[in-house]
Amino acid sequence: MTCELHGKNVIVTGGTRGIGRGITLGLANGGANVIACYRTEGEHIEALAQQLKETPGTHRLIRADVTDAEDVERLVDEARSTHRTLHGLVHNAGVISQVPFGELTPREWHRVVDTTLTAAYLVVNKALPLMSAGSSVVAIGSRAATVGIPLRAHYTAAKAGLVGLMRSLAKELSPQGIRVNVVAPGTIETEEAARDSSEERRAYVERHSRMIALRRYGRPEEVANPVAFLLSDQSSYITGETLHVDGGI
Ligand code: NDP
Repeated sequence: MTCELHGKNVIVTGGTRGIGRGITLGLANGGANVIACYRTEGEHIEALAQQLKETPGTHRLIRADVTDAEDVERLVDEARSTHRTLHGLVHNAGVISQVPFGELTPREWHRVVDTTLTAAYLVVNKALPLMSAGSSVVAIGSRAATVGIPLRAHYTAAKAGLVGLMRSLAKELSPQGIRVNVVAPGTIETEEAARDSSEERRAYVERHSRMIALRRYGRPEEVANPVAFLLSDQSSYITGETLHVDGGI
């Protein structure tokens, strides 16, 4: 980690598993104080808490559903009471499913759109009073937003909406000195995906990797590093940008 985040207070949504976990650890290793939220309790929460003890800074792992306005308020209250100010906000929480469009129910549409897009509105809206000149917002988008993917129209729409939301916020919040960007990953091998060691998946990954210039899937820390850069003062002249982190698709 080369980006200096010492003393920066950052919220990470969905920061206990997958890419979010990589972001939480990356930022904490860079010196940030991280407040990460999640929905589901489990041994992985305690394991992450232990790992965070090895890093500088003060960290909190908080159960809060980002689709619930009261939970988001509670999450932001934690930042307010612990740190008073917020230098960074990473909206990473997201869910996905594969459904033929004709079978997509309103319930599933809302589950995906609410977690990605409506939650982005909620967390930025509630956290705004804690942010000031020099603060930085990063939303985790997806390469899918620009290319489109069959069976994931709801996901693609939500991620594309996120780009529009963040681009508008970049313009609206620039007078306050707040920068807003999107990091759009390609395919990232999370610990959950890596658990599937079947021959079928191996063949799929090999086939799919041929579409990627670097011929491999990314790792969570390879998303965490650009996020840290966008939160740091090293990216002080970058706002309204979507940074694709996809190995070259
Ligand atoms: P995971 O499913 O591994 O992790 C998602 C995280 O979000 C979990 O910590 C989960 O918490 C949390 N989360 C989900 N819903 C909520 C909610 N309502 N409130 C609070 N937390 C919630 O996903 P990935 O790590 O794969 O993806 C992370 C982000 O990156 C997502 O936005 C995804 O769309 C995006 N992305 C991922 C790609 C990939 O290849 N992995 C590619 C492109 C984009 P809990 O454990 O409690 O469920």
